[in-house]
Amino acid sequence: MRVAIAGAGLAGLSCAKYLCDAGHTPVVYEARNVLGGKVAAWQDNDGDWYETGLHIFFGAYRNMRQLFAELGIEDRLQWKSHSMIFNQREVPGTYSRFDFPDLPAPLNGVAAILSNNDMLSWPEKIAFGLGLVPAMLRGQSYVEDCDRYSWTEWLKLHNIPERVNDEVFLAMSKALNFIGPDEISSTVVLTALNRFLQERDGSRMAFLDGNPPQRLCEPIVDHIRARGGEVLLSRPLRGIDLRDDGSVASFRIGGLEGGGAEEVVADAYVSALPVDPLKRLLPDTWKEQPYFAKLSGLNGVPVINIHLWFDRKLTEIDHLLFSRSELLSVYADMSNTCREYADPERSMLELVFAPAKEWIGRSDADIVAATMEELKRLFPQHFQTDNPAKLRKFVVVKTPLSVYKTVPGCQALRPAQRSPISNFFLAGDYTMQRYLASMEGAVLSGKLCAQAISEAK
Ligand SMILES: Cc1cc2nc3c(=O)[nH]c(=O)nc-3n(C[C@H](O)[C@H](O)[C@H](O)COP(=O)(O)OP(=O)(O)OC[C@H]3O[C@@H](n4cnc5c(N)ncnc54)[C@H](O)[C@@H]3O)c2cc1C
Repeated sequence: MRVAIAGAGLAGLSCAKYLCDAGHTPVVYEARNVLGGKVAAWQDNDGDWYETGLHIFFGAYRNMRQLFAELGIEDRLQWKSHSMIFNQREVPGTYSRFDFPDLPAPLNGVAAILSNNDMLSWPEKIAFGLGLVPAMLRGQSYVEDCDRYSWTEWLKLHNIPERVNDEVFLAMSKALNFIGPDEISSTVVLTALNRFLQERDGSRMAFLDGNPPQRLCEPIVDHIRARGGEVLLSRPLRGIDLRDDGSVASFRIGGLEGGGAEEVVADAYVSALPVDPLKRLLPDTWKEQPYFAKLSGLNGVPVINIHLWFDRKLTEIDHLLFSRSELLSVYADMSNTCREYADPERSMLELVFAPAKEWIGRSDADIVAATMEELKRLFPQHFQTDNPAKLRKFVVVKTPLSVYKTVPGCQALRPAQRSPISNFFLAGDYTMQRYLASMEGAVLSGKLCAQAISEAK
């Protein structure tokens, strides 16, 4: 079958890869001149890379790990020690660690939590542990039921002190969806905790060894091309033309450099666009169907990714760090964590700025100035001295509509990959799959979409 796919993020590329493996011929049409969507990255004039987002791969990412194995690029994942490291608010410049011993799950998680006494008191640990019992016993069906509650509401329901939020879950919910615990659905936090507590390596983290377009996306494209498929850049989907029966007649694809549109006719059509641009392209006659109408409740959340290059080394830590700062979420010194960005003399911090609603419209200079204020607390030894570290250069990447905002009630709105239109399918991290809006979710959605197309043949 010939399959036209719009969008060369991880979902579109994964869909095309698995379609090729099943003997089909996909062509991917990407609007921008770069692969990867939310994992896209660019090089500045000095040859330094900057990215849409600081990206972490987890041990729990089974489909992603399988994809790396199938492409023969597993050595590109740089696995870190099995730990979670938080900045201590009360003692600037210090860290509190959850270290997972090499034991089967959930023992390793329980040991990591019990052995950390900086952040949670014993009564808080016990209250929280008891709260998690239903999630462990009833599994995913309980987790899905909890989509009625925000994380803060869920904690209240289980009489877990609000302080647990301030200590741990403010940082975690910002890392998971760039919003705070009052907004995030408890399903999202419980899903992550379930994966982390039920799989031995579930919460172990890896960094890619370089920029994602070349180190991850290009091998997928090579795989697709070697099997007769194609991936075309600067070719946006501009419209979906219908037959009289409401099925897709063709994709209207914009020409190179804004040139004339091309009618692309295929046996099946896939949107691997994020949900926000997809909604704008839906044909009017589809919009009232419940499957498509529900999409109006899924909306991208703003986030900002900041890159700061310094004149010296700020830290030797080779890991992701949870800042526990008001303005920032997670960050890492990429000069330590990523082979391609390595620098033994000078740090490059990549920091996620979230929640970003109030900041997305502000100037880059304002955002960097606010971030530098936060760094005084994170690295007092380098910024509160007579000879403070100097910022050599910065790049700010804003994504006004990133992954969909996972507020309560969204699970019921997420669409299956197979739509009610016989020859139209969806892939994307927002579509229904057992992982969150994440790289793993995107790869799995692409795989499920390829399966749905093969089955519909
Ligand atoms: C700052 C940040 C940090 C993140 N950190 C992590 C992390 O640590 N771990 C993790 O697992 N996930 C993380 N994510 C989430 C992860 O990046 C996404 O879930 C995933 O990459 C989404 O893939 P996708 O293919 O579904 O969508 P996208 O990557 O958005 O791909 C959609 C593609 O469609 C294209 N497109 C749009 N309109 C058109 C059109 N009209 N025609 C053709 N193409 C079009 C876009 O250009 C894009 O290439 C992060 C995201 C951000 C923004």
